[in-house]
Amino acid sequence: MYQFNTLVIGSGLAGLSLAIELANCGQKVAVLTKKELSECNSYYAQGGIAAVIDNNDSIEGHIKDTLVAGAGLCDAKAVRYIIENSANAINWLIAMGVKFDLDDDTSTGYHLTQEGGHNFRRILHVADATGAAVINTLIQKVKRHPNIQVFENFVAIDLITGYKIGLADNQCYGLYALNRNIGQILTFAATNTVLATGGAGKVYLYTTNPDIATGDGIAMAYRAGCRVANMEFMQFHPTCLYHANAKSFLISEAVRGEGGILKLPNGYRFMQDHDERLELAPRDIVAKAIDYEM
Ligand SMILES: Cc1cc2nc3c(=O)[nH]c(=O)nc-3n(C[C@H](O)[C@H](O)[C@H](O)COP(=O)(O)OP(=O)(O)OC[C@H]3O[C@@H](n4cnc5c(N)ncnc54)[C@H](O)[C@@H]3O)c2cc1C
Repeated sequence: MYQFNTLVIGSGLAGLSLAIELANCGQKVAVLTKKELSECNSYYAQGGIAAVIDNNDSIEGHIKDTLVAGAGLCDAKAVRYIIENSANAINWLIAMGVKFDLDDDTSTGYHLTQEGGHNFRRILHVADATGAAVINTLIQKVKRHPNIQVFENFVAIDLITGYKIGLADNQCYGLYALNRNIGQILTFAATNTVLATGGAGKVYLYTTNPDIATGDGIAMAYRAGCRVANMEFMQFHPTCLYHANAKSFLISEAVRGEGGILKLPNGYRFMQDHDERLELAPRDIVAKAIDYEM
């Protein structure tokens, strides 16, 4: 049996950043991940990360754009918290060694792009492979950290909770994981267990998500008695290259941010941005698309 202070399940940006911070505080941390460390949604992120770093931009402006794009469904407190802390998060990544694209002609020194829904240039990026640059940088830190042990090709199967082992409390004591290299289930014990297992895009046939995105952490949490919420919200990228015999991949969000608009070949604009409200009911949009197909 393995024993750690904290188990972090998942090697995306959430898992790696937390592991580094906890390990810096002296905790013994295990990072378990389904495949190799880099196989995560975070690695495939392209366009970049939105943050308020330009003095001419404002927290309130970014919040407003987010709430409008969220069509009244956002948790306003969470939006504010994330945006107020966006510059700190970017500074943390820079301190880790992420080299966002520079631009001497801007007041920030960074090249900022604009993406769909944003009314300001506030996207830091590393060319069009931001996720790969961020994750590769953090992987180097994690691999070299004396307090972090990495377990690649380990699939977390289920949490070990008090109820499951006959105790009166339902505390989490660790988890069972399948070591795919040898086909064995192993036990990990820890004071803290963190599910940083990302989303569940792969429950759909067509997605830009990699194969690891199967919602395992959400399912494990649910089985352990946690409340899950907002499961109906799933991000679909509106621009994706489709090929019948190959995996689909994202055509960057920056395409729309920089002015690209989405049209059917007959010129009909089927997906308009927030400032140009749809004039048609959804059934009319479908009817127009069917018209075109026929
Ligand atoms: C193609 C694409 C482009 C994107 N572009 C952008 C962008 O430009 N800007 C932006 O802000 N966002 C972008 N996103 C969204 C962003 O990438 C995600 O919101 C973010 O990366 C989620 O990070 P995460 O750490 O929560 O999860 P992930 O990065 O998905 O990490 C989840 C980790 O959990 C592991 N895991 C899952 N289940 C198990 C299990 N049972 N056992 C062990 N390990 C497990 C996985 O292997 C993986 O390592 C993009 C997403 C995609 C798919």
